[in-house]
Amino acid sequence: MSDLPRIPLSEPCLVGNALAYLEECLSTNYVSSVGPFVERFEEAFAAYVGSRHAVACSSGTAALHVAMRLLGIGHGDEVFVPTLTFIASANPVWYERGSVVLVDSEAETWNLDPNLVAEELDRRARAGRRQPAAVEIVHILGHPARIGTAVEACARHGVPVIEDAAEALGARFTDGPCSGRHVGTIGRMGCFSFNGNKIITSGGGGMIVTDEPALARRARHLTTQARLPGLEYLHDEVGYNYRLTNVAAALGLAQLEQLPHFLERKRAIARGYDDAFQRDAGITLPPRAAWAAPSMWLYSVGVDAPVWGRGRPEVLERVRADGVEARPIWSPLHTMSVYRGAPLLGSGGVAEQLAARVLSLPSSVGLSAEDQGRVVTALRSTSRASVEAGS
Ligand SMILES: *Cc1c(COP(=O)(O)O)cnc(C)c1O
Repeated sequence: MSDLPRIPLSEPCLVGNALAYLEECLSTNYVSSVGPFVERFEEAFAAYVGSRHAVACSSGTAALHVAMRLLGIGHGDEVFVPTLTFIASANPVWYERGSVVLVDSEAETWNLDPNLVAEELDRRARAGRRQPAAVEIVHILGHPARIGTAVEACARHGVPVIEDAAEALGARFTDGPCSGRHVGTIGRMGCFSFNGNKIITSGGGGMIVTDEPALARRARHLTTQARLPGLEYLHDEVGYNYRLTNVAAALGLAQLEQLPHFLERKRAIARGYDDAFQRDAGITLPPRAAWAAPSMWLYSVGVDAPVWGRGRPEVLERVRADGVEARPIWSPLHTMSVYRGAPLLGSGGVAEQLAARVLSLPSSVGLSAEDQGRVVTALRSTSRASVEAGS
């Protein structure tokens, strides 16, 4: 075990107006779900990503759950979800007793393969089969999914698209049909997360964005127990206590103000890792599609075991022993008991390959050059070349 301090994977950077805004909450007594920061955060967020409406929620998972309700997902309704994602992308479908249909990944972006979606929708149309109730596109690790192809196919067959942009706030499309737009603003709704490890944090929280006023209105209603205006406790449907608190929104707003700076830092950290690893045989750099401006939220590389000399599990163990908090990417959902029974589009082989090879490296906004150097040295020292050179 290393005696050097541990280098965390992704820790928050609580600078700027965070303290001032939190003090304002305390001194005005607005700490709970009523208070001016919620609206300020929503307005600033909508303006930043370029959507008409934003509705703050208590978590990214809650945002996705509300999105499922807004789409009317119910018993047996199919929703396409990528197999390689954090499980919170899929669970909200299950909460509504919908049926998750998993989609394999593509090598280009590590996100869901949009061709599999388009082919399946076309095939169903030809066979006169029922289309899914929604397609959920996830932008993993800060890289936009190749959404254009999927959106076109969905439009052709009248299937709504929702986006799980929890990991990709700040990422944009720079070419093609979505050029200039932010992730999360292409589908009917986009969901974001402000959990502690995301690019900005509100302690815990999430956001739904949409251009449709009716969806925004109902999202706000559902997150506040679906209570009708007036003093009487009258409710017209079953809602949730999913509203973000004023304290969380205050922190979220202060963090949003820092986002341009955070994105610069993430991208600079990524360039540093790229420069260090680009000549290392056996390391695959993260995707960087020509049509995308990824946020580089969590810098992740593929370890090619035959070239590198050891597989991901051993590499991970060794760098962690050096105090580097690297972490494997998720296990594909189709390999876990909870979703093993779900239908799968594609073989799942691309996702399995990625899951077996990819590890994420420390990418905190506050990562020092010195610590980044330690990460690079720790990872390099696990390679066959460096072991053979006796270093
Ligand atoms: C973090 C995350 C979520 C869930 O967000 P929470 O705020 O933690 O509930 C959903 N999807 C993806 C891809 C995530 O990374």
